[in-house]
This record gives sequence, structure tokens and C-alpha cells, in this order.
Amino acid sequence: MKSYDVAIIGSGPGGYVAAIRCAQLGMKTAIIEKYSTLGGTCLNVGCIPSKALLSSSHHYEEATKHFEEHGIEIPGEIKVNLEKMIGRKQAVVDQTTGGIDFLMKKNNIDVFEGLGSFKDATHIKIEGKDAQEIEAKKIIIATGSKPSTLPFITLDKERVITSTEALKLKEIPKHLIIIGGGVIGLELGQVYRRLGAEVTVIEYMDRILPTMDAGLSKELNKVFKKAKCKMMLSHKVQSVERNGDEVIVKAENKKGDVVEFKGDYCLVSVGRKPYTAGLNAEAAGVKLNDRGQVEVNEHLQTSASNIYAIGDVIKGAMLAHKAEEEGVFVAETMAGQKPHIDYNLIPGVVYTWPEVAAVGKTEEELKADNVDYKVGQFPFRALGRARASGDLDGFVKILADKKTDEVLGVHMIGARCADLIAEAVTAMEFRASAEDISRMSHAHPTFAEAVKEAALAATEDRALHV
Ligand code: FAD
Ligand code: NAD
Repeated sequence: MKSYDVAIIGSGPGGYVAAIRCAQLGMKTAIIEKYSTLGGTCLNVGCIPSKALLSSSHHYEEATKHFEEHGIEIPGEIKVNLEKMIGRKQAVVDQTTGGIDFLMKKNNIDVFEGLGSFKDATHIKIEGKDAQEIEAKKIIIATGSKPSTLPFITLDKERVITSTEALKLKEIPKHLIIIGGGVIGLELGQVYRRLGAEVTVIEYMDRILPTMDAGLSKELNKVFKKAKCKMMLSHKVQSVERNGDEVIVKAENKKGDVVEFKGDYCLVSVGRKPYTAGLNAEAAGVKLNDRGQVEVNEHLQTSASNIYAIGDVIKGAMLAHKAEEEGVFVAETMAGQKPHIDYNLIPGVVYTWPEVAAVGKTEEELKADNVDYKVGQFPFRALGRARASGDLDGFVKILADKKTDEVLGVHMIGARCADLIAEAVTAMEFRASAEDISRMSHAHPTFAEAVKEAALAATEDRALHV
């Protein structure tokens, strides 16, 4: 029987990053993945393919709607070849997952293909291509998550679908009904709206992106409405039925009226749930909580002391970079180091256009905590760079402590915000004040100047360009 210092179950961004860090720290490492490709949800059916389709559909929108204003004329009709677009997405996925194979080899990590299940706290049975039993002194559970649904919905995966199917449709929907105005619904809704589908978003709460700062929800809702998406907020979905090629969704509005929506596809994007099926966690003494998450302490250690858990399968934000941080954290903890993660400073990004990005506390959270704060906000339309490219929507909002000026939260929506948020994370990691940011030179003309201007507005209400 092969024996390891550490075995990792699941090869998503949590698992494969943990494996690399363990190997770097000198541990003999194995990783077990039930699918034939490494990379988990993120690389195969999550972050990477969705961003590939967002990029392709963005190009199409630019070509059909904005090239002309830039003086670029394309004779003839511009058409979408969906098969080719999905093919390119798959090629990007294949290259990226292939990259993980390379990284495993480079770091001398043994890869086992098959379903891993606990025999006890130090033995894992692998069923599948590489069937065998292995032994490991320490084990990391990184089994991720799967889409969740509503109890009355039958996901037929043809017309009533999850994000996994939405990433490989064979036709552009005529009318895509989306249940859930969260990250997946909005990113994939934008993809198909750009490609010509009618899109209806049905959201239970009174705003889209309900966990983000309300200012961002409002601004993105405007953008979606401008693109002629129907945004049905405060609607509780009651039933989803399929009738041939038609999908009928009924939802109750605030007044108690039942509203009916008819489309040809329905994307169910109401969140994801931790995945532990087939793991046989109880055989190792690993406890789950009532939400099905693997229970962990502050060291990400489970109820079995040699077994740790990371990523979507435990509490916290379901984000690839959160899973990665936890993978490194656990590897370093096992090596006797004292790593640290500040969960308040894990940024959240929605890759629509304009992009939405945030870190730290929202206004709603600061109000609930009775924190005395001030706000500095700056609109992108006042920036030279935004005018030059024509990306005028959005703003940067900085929330700072009223007394100390320490930055407590940064919320932005606009072009390239997914990248701009890194400046806010850096500043907050160093506990910068708004004035610190406002006194740093930002290259001109850049979108990043909006961060400096928002900091100036927060410091002394002295933004320069509004
Ligand atoms: P996963 O990536 O889910 O990997 C778990 C792996 O474990 C899987 O490969 C699974 O097959 C394997 N596994 C499970 N059980 C077993 C077993 N018993 N034996 C062997 N293998 C097993 N996050 C972002 O930060 N940015 C984004 O842009 C983003 N976009 C997304 C878009 C979509 C459409 C979706 C669905 C998700 C997106 N996410 C994004 C979320 C991100 O994908 C997850 O947070 C991330 O993948 C979690 O990583 P993980 O390692 O915990 O688990
Ligand atoms: P989500 O939690 O982001 O959004 C789900 C939405 O569905 C919420 O707005 C919620 O109020 C709504 N909802 C719940 N029940 C409903 C009902 N009965 N009727 C109508 N609306 C209902 O979940 P998601 O969009 O499915 O994404 C799942 C996870 O994947 C998220 O945790 C997210 O972090 C991750 N993800 C991240 C990214 C990114 O980082 N860019 C992209 C995609 C997915």
C-alpha cells in the first residue's frame, strides 16, 4: 500500500493549491480526483469557462454595438457561431486543466483518478481508474460544492438547467428565465443577453446581489435594465414546469399575485451546497454541521485531528481564491507554521461588464454594527480614461472610519474593477487610511484614478475631477 505524509481529496483550487504547497514544504503528497481532469468546479465548469464565454460575448457586443462609434465598419452581418464559441471555451478549459497536470508532475505529487472515501482516519479507498487503498498521516478534504436547487424543481439538465449545462448549450435560448439574481445568474444572464436571448431574472430578495453593498446592486440593476433584461425583484418562485420545448415558471410578487413566465430555458442559480457524497466522512470521525458543511475549528481542522477541510465544503464564501488561501493555510499549519487568513479581506468580484468588486464591510454592515463611518464616492464618467474607452458606467465607493480615517470597505462597479480591487485589498491589509490612498500617485489616464479620487472624497470631500 502506498503511504503519504498527506493525501488530498478533491483537485479544485483548494485541493491542488494545497497539494503544491504541501509538496513545497517537503511532504510526500497525493491528490485524489474522481473526474479525469484536475481543477475542480473552478477550472472545468466554473470560473474559467464562464469567463471565457463572458469574454467572447463581450467581443460580440463590442463588434455589434460599439465598433461603429469608434469608426470601425464591418461590411455584412456579424454573426455568432455558438458551436465555435463553446469550442473555444472548452479549449481554454483543456489548456488550463492540462496546466494543473504539469504542476502536479513538477512538484512530484501522485495523482489518483477515482472516488476517494474514508476507510478510517488514515486510510482512503479509491474507486475508479486508479482503484486501490492508500494510507496518509494527514488528509485534507477539498471536495467542493454542487449546484443547489429548490425542492419543487426537477432539473432535467436539458431545459431546466444549472450553470454546468448553461456553459455548453447547443443553441442560444430565445428566452432564458433565470431563477436567482446572484453571481451565476447575472454572469451567465449577461452572456446570453449579449448573444441575443431575451433574459428574465427572477430574484426572491428586493435587490440583485443581496449580499453585496446595496449601491452596487442598484447600479448593476440599472445596467441590466438598460440592456432590456427583465429584472423581477421580490418574486418568490413557486413552480417550474416543462411542456415540450417550453418552460413555465410561476412566481408570487410582493402583492401576492402569481406571475407566469414562459421561456425555452430556465437556469436555476439559487446557490451551491457543500459536496460530501460518497466520502464516508463518518468512518473517519469527521463531523458535518446541519448545513452539510464539514465542521472545522480555527485551524481548519475537523473533528478528527489529523484531517483538515478547505474551500466550498466548509463555511464561508464559495470563492476559488478563498479555497486557495485555505489550501496554503492548512499546508503551512501542518508544517508547524503560524499562517493567518483575514476573511474580511477576501475580495468578491462579479465579472459582468461593468465589473463589480468589493472588499471589507458594506454600508449595511457598518450601520448594523453602529460604526461611525464616512463615504467617498467617485463616478467613472468623470475620468479621462473612461471617456476615452467609452466605459462610463459605475463608481468607486470608499468607506472609512469617521474618526481614524481607516479604510473599512471598498465597493466598486465599472470597467476593470475586478483588477482594481487588488489595490483596495493591499491598502486594507496594511490598514491604510483613505488619506494614505489619496496621497499615492496613480498613473494618468487610468481607471485606477477613480480609487484615488474616491479616497480624496472620503478624506476631505476634495475629489479633484467632480
Ligand atoms: P471544487 O472546485 O468544487 O473542487 C472539488 C473537487 O473535488 C471536484 O473536482 C470534485 O470532482 C472532487 N471530489 C469531490 N468529492 C470527491 C471524492 N470523494 N473523491 C475524489 N474527488 C472528489 N469563484 C471565484 O472565485 N471566481 C469566479 O469567477 C467563479 N466563477 C464561478 C462560476 C461558476 C459557473 C461556478 C459554478 C462557480 C464559480 N466560482 C467562482 C466558485 C468556484 O468555482 C468555487 O468556489 C471553487 O471551485 C471551490 O474550490 P474547491 O477546491 O473548494 O472545490
Ligand atoms: P448566489 O448565492 O450568488 O445567488 C443566489 C441568488 O438566488 C441570491 O440572490 C438569492 O437571493 C436568490 N434566491 C435564492 N432562492 C431563491 C428563490 N427561491 N427564488 C428566487 N431567487 C432565489 O449563488 P449562485 O449565483 O448560484 O452562485 C453560487 C456560488 O458560486 C456563489 O457562492 C458564488 O460565490 C460562486 N460564484 C462566484 C463567482 C464569482 O466569484 N465571480 C461566479 C459564479 C459563482
